[in-house]
Amino acid sequence: MNFNDYKYERINLEEIQNKFQSFITEFNNSKNIEEQIVAFDKIIELRNHIDTMTTLVSIRHSIDTTNEFYDKENDYLDEISPIITGFISNFYKALISSTFRNELEEKYGKLLFQFAELSIKTFDEKIIPDLQEENKLVSQYDKLRANAKILFDGEEKTLSEMSAYSESKDRNIRLEATKKVAEFYKNNIDNFDQIYDGLVKVRTKIAKKLGYENYVQLAYDRLSRTDYNSKDVANYRKQVLENIVPLYIELRKKQEKRLGVDKLKFYDENINFNSGNANPHGNAEWILNNGIKMYNELSPETAEFFSFMTENNLLDLLSRKGKMGGGYCTYIPNYKSPYIFANFNGTSGDVDVLTHEAGHAFQVYQSRKHSVPEYLWPTYEACEIHSMSMEFLTWPWMHLFFENDTEKYKFTHLSSALLFIPYGVTVDEFQHWVYENPEVSPSDRRKKWLEIEAKYLPTRDYGEIDDFKSGIFWFKQLHIFSEPFYYIDYTLAQVCAFQFLIKANENREEAWKDYLNLCQLGGSKSFFELMKSANLKNPFKDGTLKAVVLKIKEYLDKFDDSR
Ligand code: ZN
Repeated sequence: MNFNDYKYERINLEEIQNKFQSFITEFNNSKNIEEQIVAFDKIIELRNHIDTMTTLVSIRHSIDTTNEFYDKENDYLDEISPIITGFISNFYKALISSTFRNELEEKYGKLLFQFAELSIKTFDEKIIPDLQEENKLVSQYDKLRANAKILFDGEEKTLSEMSAYSESKDRNIRLEATKKVAEFYKNNIDNFDQIYDGLVKVRTKIAKKLGYENYVQLAYDRLSRTDYNSKDVANYRKQVLENIVPLYIELRKKQEKRLGVDKLKFYDENINFNSGNANPHGNAEWILNNGIKMYNELSPETAEFFSFMTENNLLDLLSRKGKMGGGYCTYIPNYKSPYIFANFNGTSGDVDVLTHEAGHAFQVYQSRKHSVPEYLWPTYEACEIHSMSMEFLTWPWMHLFFENDTEKYKFTHLSSALLFIPYGVTVDEFQHWVYENPEVSPSDRRKKWLEIEAKYLPTRDYGEIDDFKSGIFWFKQLHIFSEPFYYIDYTLAQVCAFQFLIKANENREEAWKDYLNLCQLGGSKSFFELMKSANLKNPFKDGTLKAVVLKIKEYLDKFDDSR
């Protein structure tokens, strides 16, 4: 069935409420485990219906934020989703106090109950208006960026379209394009400040109402982080500072030399070679066709998966005005369909969509047999292992896209994966500081950003881009606005993905077996347990980072980047 034929109907809140109430009563009144499972399944069916409708709105709204119908539906869902969270919370309360809890734990696993307990902790009816406020502010941020019109090269461009210019071979174009983007953020500084300040305040208010000291632990609980806390993360950041930042400096120096510039400026960071970055040698259709060939050859599982995606029109790849920026993968339960959203711009990022986002999609496609919705996806750090590892497991097919530039691509891919980690911890440390100090002014936040940036990205020099010198670079990092504390996850997963690359070089068959198994487990285990099942070393453990990075540096040193 084609995605365009997937049927949307508005959720009737009253009807949903009645159903939840009657199914929960049925669940509570069950005389035996069999009866209780019947009621449990009815609740799952109801939740799948809600998720299906919500996801259809979110996809169709992001594809075209100017579509009035879905814009309205999106506003409506912003309003009602916190109320629905309340219904689910009621179900969780029934679940954890079930008379047949032992039997249920045996059937569904303990993790579901841990999630339920965390979820109850993070919700109370009295925070519904605050959650609605939070949703509204996030939507404002999305719209502000999606509707950015930047006059460049004689045309109005979207922010997504502008990002390609930051990789131009012509230094002047890079400089001018980056200036224009920075100017957009600077011109809207009051808007961004207002939105973010509002978000920090409302999240802090929610945390206090729920009895937390501040928003930090609430965020960890919202992200269902069952295995580690903010102290563990701080220790991990310290390891990054010790083991990766020196390598970061070395790689940036090499880049400076390779480009032959006096001083590497911020607007040079995205260009790796004076001859140009490795870009795919064809248009979107050509890239997609090569993607089909790649997944056909990779494994029977990926072949089946990718033909499902293309035959059902489950990819929206081209950049358009009014389309939201960035890329994502989501899942539509009642159609058992993953969905991939992207903004192609002619750079190697287009190929990354077919590996990274497709890695997410492949995982959820593999774990769609889990009937419990909580087990479809794991927590975010684990999710990013699937996507980032797929980026490496598809290396043997990169010549399809890059032809004689394949080595260039691989060098850039691997070095930027390493260079990303210090940036990732910058975002993370910043957010910890922000929510531990919710009363500070927007200008204090800007100062702090610059301070943390200098620690982890010591070579960063904004040069002529004066607007970014005021500490507003992070306005462009949507996670900071819409998914607080979801960012360190990419860096944790990257350390795991590196391990898959290393393993695939040693024994490809073994690596694929572990990867497929990890995908099939979905979210049925916690992050630490998933790593164990996939034979991965835990990045939080002292020494893991050091050992993994050493091996990656070895690979990097084998490339002759001067060529
Ligand atoms: Zn991802």
